[in-house]
Amino acid sequence: MEFVMNGRPPVEIDTSRPHPARMYDWYLGGKDNYPVDEAMGRQMLALDPRVPVMARVNRAFMHRTTRWLAENGVRQFLDIGTGIPTEPNLHQIAQRVAADAVVVYSDNDPIVLAHAAALLRGTPEGRTEYLQADVRSPDAVIEGARKVLDFGRPVALSLIALLHFVSDEDGAHDLVQGLLSELPSGSYLVVSHATADFTPEESKAATEKLKAAGVNLALRSRDEFARFFDGLDLVEPGVEVPHKWHPELGEPVPGQDDGVIPGYGAVGRKP
Ligand code: SAH
Repeated sequence: MEFVMNGRPPVEIDTSRPHPARMYDWYLGGKDNYPVDEAMGRQMLALDPRVPVMARVNRAFMHRTTRWLAENGVRQFLDIGTGIPTEPNLHQIAQRVAADAVVVYSDNDPIVLAHAAALLRGTPEGRTEYLQADVRSPDAVIEGARKVLDFGRPVALSLIALLHFVSDEDGAHDLVQGLLSELPSGSYLVVSHATADFTPEESKAATEKLKAAGVNLALRSRDEFARFFDGLDLVEPGVEVPHKWHPELGEPVPGQDDGVIPGYGAVGRKP
């Protein structure tokens, strides 16, 4: 299948195997997914029926962290692993607090590129851009982002539900440290990440099913998650399950309870 967008090169969508961005879209009730994504999504649901609630809780974590950052003076955002647009997107949250907020989105899945136009409708005062890139080529991400963001001023780097798709072999921790090293003091890191800590059996089964379909999941323990924040000052309450990170900044997600969400979320500030 091919999309042609405003003179851009055609975008190839591989509908023969599931893709994380499209499965996530299916969990969220979106239309930008294919039978292969729904089939794998249903297999995940059979292992744990709370998966759609987890996707919403993760999305709500992005809303609250972005609001918190904008309210605390951050005006530049670099969001890697953006996903298929789902309202409200990060720039809408940030620009609602600060109309002049500048957002650079980035993802490696061509389906996100096909929908990038929806990510670019920001405020006239602010700016939103989309960069097609793989986080495993951080130089390309930085080079692109630098054309839009002023790296002399703080930037919030958000890696929301991204890093569990980046393996240790690909150097996930070094990648994050490398990206942070480009950003000035006062910058922030925001991460949410799936873990097997709470549901080891289901997580193992899910990892195996996804691997068989060509999707590699790198679930990480609390300590492995916390290591992404080495050298940063964690914002209160530190490492938490995502729905317990400043719940007062948003509305509870329907169906969410204390048991839900085998994942972690945190925000750290570069000193
Ligand atoms: N951040 C969004 C979407 C999470 S789904 C949210 O939390 O709502 C994970 C996204 O990461 C998908 O869109 C997928 O395409 C993207 N992704 C996975 N591996 C990637 C990589 N190596 N480089 C860039 N993006 C990647």
